[in-house]
Amino acid sequence: MSDGTVAQVIVESPGLFMDKPFDYRITPEQLRFLRPGMRVVVPFRKDVKPAIVWRLHHVDAVSEKIRPIISVVDESPILTEEQLSLAQWLCDRYACTIQDALGAILPGAFRVRGRMRMVVVDDDSVPDDVRSTRLWQWIAAQRPDEAQVMQAFGDKARHQVRGWMDAVYLRQELDVRERVQQATKSFLLPCVGPDELLAEAAVRDRRAAKQAELLRALAEAEQGELLWSRSTYPGSTVQSLVRDGLLRIEERTISRFTWDDKAIPSTPPVLTEAQERALQQIRLSRRANGHKTVVLHGVTGSGKTEIYMRAIEDTLEQGMQVIVLVPEIALTPQMVGRFYARFGERIAVLHSALTPGERRDEWMRILEGRADIVIGARSAVFAPIQNLGLVVVDEEHEPSYKQDESPHYDAREVALERAANAGAMAILGSATPSLWAIRMSETGRAKIVSLPTRANRKALPTVELIDMRNELRSRNKSLFSARLQEEMARTVEMGKQVVLFLNRRGYANSMLCRACGESVHCPNCDISLTVHKSAAGHVLICHYCGFQQPYQDVCGFCHEPAMRAFGIGTEQIEEAIHRMWPSYRVLRMDVDTTRKKGSLKRIVDDFEHGRADILIGTQMIAKGLDFPNVRLVGVVAADTMLSVPDYRAHERTFQLLTQVAGRAGRADTEGLTIIQTYRPEHFSIQAAAKHDFAAFYREEREQREFFAYPPFCELAVFVATHTEEKLAKGAAMRFERELRRTADGNALSVLPAVPSGIRRIENQYRFQVVLKYEHWQDVQQSVTAAYRLVKERMNRLGGTCRLDVNAQRIG
Ligand code: ADP
Ligand code: ZN
Repeated sequence: MSDGTVAQVIVESPGLFMDKPFDYRITPEQLRFLRPGMRVVVPFRKDVKPAIVWRLHHVDAVSEKIRPIISVVDESPILTEEQLSLAQWLCDRYACTIQDALGAILPGAFRVRGRMRMVVVDDDSVPDDVRSTRLWQWIAAQRPDEAQVMQAFGDKARHQVRGWMDAVYLRQELDVRERVQQATKSFLLPCVGPDELLAEAAVRDRRAAKQAELLRALAEAEQGELLWSRSTYPGSTVQSLVRDGLLRIEERTISRFTWDDKAIPSTPPVLTEAQERALQQIRLSRRANGHKTVVLHGVTGSGKTEIYMRAIEDTLEQGMQVIVLVPEIALTPQMVGRFYARFGERIAVLHSALTPGERRDEWMRILEGRADIVIGARSAVFAPIQNLGLVVVDEEHEPSYKQDESPHYDAREVALERAANAGAMAILGSATPSLWAIRMSETGRAKIVSLPTRANRKALPTVELIDMRNELRSRNKSLFSARLQEEMARTVEMGKQVVLFLNRRGYANSMLCRACGESVHCPNCDISLTVHKSAAGHVLICHYCGFQQPYQDVCGFCHEPAMRAFGIGTEQIEEAIHRMWPSYRVLRMDVDTTRKKGSLKRIVDDFEHGRADILIGTQMIAKGLDFPNVRLVGVVAADTMLSVPDYRAHERTFQLLTQVAGRAGRADTEGLTIIQTYRPEHFSIQAAAKHDFAAFYREEREQREFFAYPPFCELAVFVATHTEEKLAKGAAMRFERELRRTADGNALSVLPAVPSGIRRIENQYRFQVVLKYEHWQDVQQSVTAAYRLVKERMNRLGGTCRLDVNAQRIG
């Protein structure tokens, strides 16, 4: 026993439900530099595992049983203290494990691999009959770990190997590797003045021409240094000049990431009056110690981005840093471009399409303070910023801010938490703020700042509602109403552009037999197959598991040739336009046309530069794209979103309609939006048509309050999945029962266990329990305990459980 400090570490071990730190001994030498947030390697059970130092704590007596840390990977922490407390907060808020929390915060590129390799002791002490074995020679060549030996030579080798280790014929050596290395580049710097460089060059002209060339290049280098390209100047050339004391090599960490088309630096526009007022209010809020959260409610095209940029400038002037969250980086190339044009290289970009190396380098640039502005999707909210002054969440209403796997965090909530801890300002911007955001202002937690007019000083687009029931009556069987056809043709003839919106990809939604009424289902999922067009004709595809089967006219049940496609998708619209107007140039933007890296950006570029007349798209086109030449927006079917079985269907409908309508008339063209619908009287559609956010909010708020739905309570959704239906159902019922027994019935209402919206996906049955409560902290303990209990049991049975706290959708 001895007095001292022990390190609590979080051991990385996928598949294990280990939600607590473990103690490890540290040497006096390690104590000098070891800090929380560093990566280490520790012995764990019979293995070695990578881990992260969670906390150091002093104890009166360090038990002999505590094992030492074997290796420290970092010289300085890669996670800040604030990020570690954020991990703890994530565990509490979203009922996840510490491992999951750290996994969300730290990019996978920082994973360390640690293992014990076997190394042969190559001296006379080893008898020849050992040396001559195949196993010995293999170990000498491979330096394997124990698991690899077992794999190659079977279980009996274990005994042999252990014996050799005891006899010290073999020893173990720790091998620690990072998945991705820090990238560096070599720079050449002069050690003498330019005159001397030139003089030395002259001396070498004849006997060492390459050296002379390098010395001259260095003397003339604009930055006073050169990036060493090894193909131009070989190692021998550089080394001999280093030996002569004329230059030195400096290794610098660089970022592998580059934003490929940096915009030309732009001068900021003169703010409109509305923008000026909004900015003043934001500045007041920042100075006041009251509202540090602002909901920036600006109509589409009101110039919210410009407001963000001004607020960012203010923040940078105060020497503080900024996080900007956007729904999806890939969908907002224009936004990132604008930021580069304004702020240049001080920007770091974090998003899922970066390679692990790029991600790692951007992270280090932020951690080391080489970048001040982080732009990224959801996970960028965890960026290792040390001096946070402002968080911006653009298009705050977008569902993509909620993570769909553990931890089920809402990036908006995390943003507010980080801002609150840092005393920083938060701006949540949208043309269609979520009920959650507006409710915050009602309860005094945020302040609304509005931008009621467009930056181009033009009116919002006129919106016409077309009742599609009348079209049927007048025998128009086309996808487009007479009005929409007329305006599409007019717009293209004017040389302007059209955006057509339909929130359904593929050719048709489903195949239905007109004789017996059966539809074609996926064999693995409880959902009908979607029709897609391919070069070879039509195919049927499952949108959940990817299952495909050929298209058939004949029904598989009644064998009548009566199959027909129902429910239009984006592919069908494209086909219809080609048939009606063969000369129109059409682009389609949906999941299917944007799968390849860079393809989405190409579509945006092409449309922006007028290389197409019509852009057809799903909700992807509703996320802040800015095309100045768009005159007409057509919503092909507004009702598809209303019928989704989700308490937010009205809200999503209103938001999507408002956002797509907002793509029209953004520059010097008057905009027009035509919405086709079978339910023109629905309040979500009415409000979107009149640009009447207040009316929509009033109605929807009333319904939510009446039926006790968010934001008037919070929902958590528990889902159990298993290949056996009764096990999935059993787990959900167990969870329900457990909570009825343990939880405070006044604080928590537990809905009965039921099959999920889609009962089976990829042959996994899914059952769920919905929880309603007002304050998570009142129910956190009982819910978390019940969840762990059921989950551990389910894991043993080969199934899975998930708990989505503060769920944005049900099932
Ligand atoms: P929002 O995000 O609010 O929909 P944007 O920020 O995309 O709007 O701005 C809409 C358009 O107006 C952009 O093309 C932008 O460059 C332009 N804009 C913004 N502010 C001004 C201004 N003060 N003067 C002129 N144009 C502006
Ligand atoms: Zn399927």
